[in-house]
Amino acid sequence: MRRLLMSLILVGMILLSSPAYANMIRVVTTFSILEDFVQQVGGEKVEVSSLIPRGVDPHTWESTPKEVRLVAQADLLVANGGGFDDWLLPLVKNAAKPEADLIIASQGLEAIEHDHDHGHSHHHAGDPHFWLSVPNAISYVHQIAQALVSLAPGDAAYFEERTNTYIEELVELDRWMVDALDGISAENRIIVTYHNAFSYLAEQYGFEVAEFLVANPDSEPSPRDLARLINLLQGNGRRAVFTEPQLASGTRYMQTLVDEVGGELFVLYSDSLSKEISTYVEMMKHNTYTLLEALE
Ligand SMILES: [Zn+2]
Repeated sequence: MRRLLMSLILVGMILLSSPAYANMIRVVTTFSILEDFVQQVGGEKVEVSSLIPRGVDPHTWESTPKEVRLVAQADLLVANGGGFDDWLLPLVKNAAKPEADLIIASQGLEAIEHDHDHGHSHHHAGDPHFWLSVPNAISYVHQIAQALVSLAPGDAAYFEERTNTYIEELVELDRWMVDALDGISAENRIIVTYHNAFSYLAEQYGFEVAEFLVANPDSEPSPRDLARLINLLQGNGRRAVFTEPQLASGTRYMQTLVDEVGGELFVLYSDSLSKEISTYVEMMKHNTYTLLEALE
C-alpha cells in the first residue's frame, strides 16, 4: 500500500514537471468572458484564470492581495479596456514579470457614447461592453489569437486552427441572432436595462434604443432617472424590463420599476458568465431567447 502510494506520488511529480505542463502559457484575464475567449483559442496550451470570479459585478469589484500572485505568474494578461478594468494596469506595473505581455481586447473598436444626461457628468467615457455585439467579440478573439501566437510561435498552427473553428461558430451565432431578432416588431424594439451595457447589442441587432437607469453600477439611480424610465415604459405596449444576474441591488430597482408600470422582469447576461451559462456562445443564445420571449 505504502509502495503504491509512493509510486502514485512519483507519477504525479513526473506529470507536473513534464514539458507539456511547463510549456503552458499562463493567462490572466480581468473577467470571465475574456477567460472563455482565451480558453476557446488556447485549448490545452493555456492555463487561464479570471481575476473577477463568475457571478460578481466587475464594476464594483475590488482587487485583493490574492490577485497579485496570479498577475505575477502570468505570461499574458488580457483586459477589456474602455475604462471597464483600468485597475489592472497598476497591478501589472507593480507585480507582472517584465517579459509578460498585456493586451487590451477592445483595441481598435469605436466606443458608442451616450448623449442623454444621467446627472453624473463624470461617466462620459462611453459604453465599454463591446463584446455584446458578436462582430466585436470576433475582434477580441483575433487580438487574443495574435498574442498567443507571438508568445508561442511553435504552436501557431494549433492556435490558428482553433481560432478559425471558433470564429466560424461566432459568425454563425451572429447570423442566427440577426435572423431570430428580426421577428420583433418596430414598436417593441426598446431594451430597458439597469446599467449602460447594451448599446452594441442594440446597434448590431436593430434595437431602437438601449435605455438604462445608471451609466455604471457603482452609482445609485436618481429619482429623476427612475421617473424618466417609468414615463418611457408607460408609453410602450410591451413593458418588459431587463436585469442582470450579477446586479443584486440593480434587480431591486428594476423590480420597483416593473411594479410601478405593471410590466415583467427578465434576465439578460452582460458582464459575467455563471455556472449555468458557462460560455459566451451560451450567454448570447440565452440573451436572444430572452429578448424574443420579452418583446416578440
Ligand atoms: Zn457592465
